[in-house]
Amino acid sequence: MAEKQVIVRVKRQVSSQGSPYWEEFALRWRPSMNIIICLRDIAENPVTRDGRKTTPITYDSNCLEEVCGSCAMLINGRAGMACSALVDRLEQPIRLEPFSKFPVVRDLAVDRQFMFESLKRVKAWIPIDGSYDLGEGPRMASEVQEKAYRLSTCISCGSCLEVCPQVNGKSQFMGAAIFSQVRLFNMHPTGKMQASERIRASMGRGGIEDCANAQNCVKACPKEIPLTESLAEINRAAWKQALLGWLIG
Ligand code: SF4
Repeated sequence: MAEKQVIVRVKRQVSSQGSPYWEEFALRWRPSMNIIICLRDIAENPVTRDGRKTTPITYDSNCLEEVCGSCAMLINGRAGMACSALVDRLEQPIRLEPFSKFPVVRDLAVDRQFMFESLKRVKAWIPIDGSYDLGEGPRMASEVQEKAYRLSTCISCGSCLEVCPQVNGKSQFMGAAIFSQVRLFNMHPTGKMQASERIRASMGRGGIEDCANAQNCVKACPKEIPLTESLAEINRAAWKQALLGWLIG
């Protein structure tokens, strides 16, 4: 009996300046195969479906359990995580492409630096000096903890930016993940101290006012983070802060 196969088409690019091209691979099917296993099989035997020797595919991956966010890519045209995308749930040939909203480094690996720069811009952290014992932190109500926990599960995969029409070559829109982190750190009892600074940094070029409410982000987020709620909350906070600033002069 013929061996069951998995057909994978990969959009490749040798460098950030290179032109993209496609290669197709026929792999041996095994139960519970995911996209990372496909890419490892190709690395083990980099030969295309038509028998031509090629090079292993470059891609990012680390945790293999949807925590590090690095293996995000377009799988059959949709943003997804290669580690949790099971072959049996995908239509074949399976098409793998790098995210289109970030510069390609090589093949499926992209440079997400824009996201990390945006996180720096909005100060997505709590500035405490950890060099000495600060004692117990302030208490948080359990309902706040529950909300914060969900927001804290962001893995910086960039899927919400990939699907957002406002993130494009002409705009500097920072994307839903960034505003959701502003919400997270502004709801923390210690983080609150820099709340107005984060809100200020969330305004202006690429800021919250560039959100056009397409709501694609919330559907694409692998961690099911309530991104539209975060966007609405930061938008309200930005308006309030702008109005107060205007009134106070
Ligand atoms: Fe990924 Fe969701 Fe975080 Fe966006 S908010 S970067 S989609 S985990």
